[in-house]
Amino acid sequence: MNSYKLLTPGPLTTTRTVKEEMLLDRCTWDDEYKSMTQQIRSQLLNLAGADPVKYTTVLMQGSGTFTVESVLTSTIRDEDKLLIVTNGAYGERIVQIAACIGLQHTEYRVNFDEQPNESDIRSILENDPSISHIAMVHCETTTGILNPLDMISKLSIAYRKTLIIDAMSSFGGIEIDVPSLGIDYLISSANKCIQGVPGFGFVIANKEKLTACEGIARSLSLDLYDQWQGMDKDGKWRFTSPTHVVAAFSKALEELVQEGGVAARFIRYRGNNALLRERLAQLGIHAYIASDKQSPIITTFLFPNESFSFPHFYAYTKARGFVIYPGKLTDVDTFRIGNIGEIDYEDIEQLCTIIEEYMGVGVIA
Ligand SMILES: *Cc1c(COP(=O)(O)O)cnc(C)c1O
Repeated sequence: MNSYKLLTPGPLTTTRTVKEEMLLDRCTWDDEYKSMTQQIRSQLLNLAGADPVKYTTVLMQGSGTFTVESVLTSTIRDEDKLLIVTNGAYGERIVQIAACIGLQHTEYRVNFDEQPNESDIRSILENDPSISHIAMVHCETTTGILNPLDMISKLSIAYRKTLIIDAMSSFGGIEIDVPSLGIDYLISSANKCIQGVPGFGFVIANKEKLTACEGIARSLSLDLYDQWQGMDKDGKWRFTSPTHVVAAFSKALEELVQEGGVAARFIRYRGNNALLRERLAQLGIHAYIASDKQSPIITTFLFPNESFSFPHFYAYTKARGFVIYPGKLTDVDTFRIGNIGEIDYEDIEQLCTIIEEYMGVGVIA
């Protein structure tokens, strides 16, 4: 297999040193391993600006979706009602999970290229006082649109709701101050902006809220409260933990600090994203999301012309060392390029040169 860099939003390109951590087999009940789990939990609280007296971190086996499902099944009672803000596939997945569990819920849906509107949400909350919880995706990886955390946080605090944020593809790459935003459950996973490998997700949780959630879960393995209680004792996961992934993640957190923390990583992602958008626009390849709503995480690009073939384009860039991502929209033809992972400015310059060559060839043919 030829090697290539991933320009996909998870799994993503990791450093060699992160991968090397996985060469050792670790014991799940060993003290050193358990303290690694505890250290990760407190480092994540630090990244979130969260005080360990008021917040805790719970790690959960599986991909990110398992952790979203864990929060929904463990923290929302049958008598509660969840408002789900959607403008993409990941918001819609929260709706699917709510339906699957049988939660009372309502969806506020906007177009995939639009941000949710404050006055719409305000009137939904005014008209339906039975709503107890609000869930929103921060960066909709479907399109790359960034949703307004400040706005939803302000409303959630004003109307005294419990706020659940899917920050899967943004946490670690965009600064998020969990306490000041009043986020009660922030969800993310190992293989996104922290730049680890896939295998578990995590929740930064408001302890007071989580404490009240004993016995709510309709699932044994996804019970967030029980996982917290178990893990809080000494760092032992309830069931087999993804040891290699945990070790790699611990190294990835160390490397995030070395890079200069979330602020420095944000600058790298944003610079790479701006370069990519500018260079492709010059080739007539335009972004689907307007620049003021665009995240530095991933960009959706419209096909430049009718004869453009994604499989052909994909094979061309892959053969030259970069793997890109198909689009996820049904009404327009698009492809996506991710900016997260161990990707530097030179990588993006090289990719842009490859795409320029490709487009030049396309014109002649
Ligand atoms: C990656 C991602 C998820 C989780 O997806 P998995 O495939 O289960 O890891 C959830 N929400 C968002 C916004 C994501 O980017």
